[in-house]
Amino acid sequence: MKKEIICTVCPMGCHILVEGEGENIISVTGNTCKRGEVYASAEFCHPVRILTTTVKTDCEKTPLVAVRSEKPLPKEKIMDCMEVIRKVEVKTPVSMYDVVVENICGTGTNIVATGNV
Ligand code: SF4
Repeated sequence: MKKEIICTVCPMGCHILVEGEGENIISVTGNTCKRGEVYASAEFCHPVRILTTTVKTDCEKTPLVAVRSEKPLPKEKIMDCMEVIRKVEVKTPVSMYDVVVENICGTGTNIVATGNV
């Protein structure tokens, strides 16, 4: 299997082609530096994303607060995490970095507020 991955480690945004099967990487090409090879290899085997979204609050004036995952989450868990977050309503006041959902979907990662309400 071949997969093109855009490296997000630096603003160059190199297009890296990774060839492999599962966790067995056969070749990595198109990277300009070693950091890109490491990033693309990890992304090929275990793609992760920082989840950013909003959750409801109990405040009529400010009904939403921005949140994000403290660490990148496995890409395949993002939809499950969104399903959990969609049902959450936080009690105000909420401060930046307050934990809104602890250990979301058993990933070991918390969802935290990135704003104040
Ligand atoms: S491969 Fe290296 S130079 Fe290219 S985007 Fe990634 S970190 Fe930047």
